Amino acid sequence: MTDAPARILLVEDEPHLAVGIRFNLESEGYNVVHVETGEAALTALEDFSFELLVLDLMLPGIDGLEVCRRVRKDQPQLPILMLTARTEEADRVAGLATGADDYLTKPFSLAEFLLRVAGLLRRSRWQPQPPQKEHYDFGVFKVNLTELTAETPRGAITLTDQEAKLLRLFFANEGHVVTRQQLLSEGWGMAPDTETRTLDNFIVRLRKYFEPDPSKPQHFITVRGRGYKFQKDNN
Ligand code: CA
Repeated sequence: MTDAPARILLVEDEPHLAVGIRFNLESEGYNVVHVETGEAALTALEDFSFELLVLDLMLPGIDGLEVCRRVRKDQPQLPILMLTARTEEADRVAGLATGADDYLTKPFSLAEFLLRVAGLLRRSRWQPQPPQKEHYDFGVFKVNLTELTAETPRGAITLTDQEAKLLRLFFANEGHVVTRQQLLSEGWGMAPDTETRTLDNFIVRLRKYFEPDPSKPQHFITVRGRGYKFQKDNN
């Protein structure tokens, strides 16, 4: 048993539902990383350890069933709670057959959802946990999100919790756009339509730390009109 907050990966492509779920999980003290696609989920699972996967069934690209199938090969002990808008029994059976541990049909009550989450975590916490893996290297930079430290050619950096949280979000979504709305909401708990320079200032700081040349970003790329994208390799 461990006392650290459980780390949960939430894979959900409906923004409103994702915001509600994340808010409720964080209110319970869980540590949540949210991604919107199956591809991003698989990347996040390769780079970080989680104690629970909350997985939407219907996703663009690689769907929840396929994610579930692949996760089961690599991490047979990771509990999976599958969410689906479908009501057909066939999907439920398919979900459980591919290795989901539990299952909720949308719309569900958040109270019921939190009970299921707690139940799955309670069961899994009796199992030995793999060591937390929160090291992330890209280009000439080495980041340790557990220790809140980073090594750069310009020297060592101490990260704030806030910076680590947003870096984790970028790393988990490597190669995919993270929208301004997502960053504002997950980083600062701000409503998606907030007019603010907070995020812009944060990106400037991030580039000072983690770009060989902050004026020509290679890792934290602006995607005009949408947000930002983290690229591990500058090709
Ligand atoms: Ca969906």
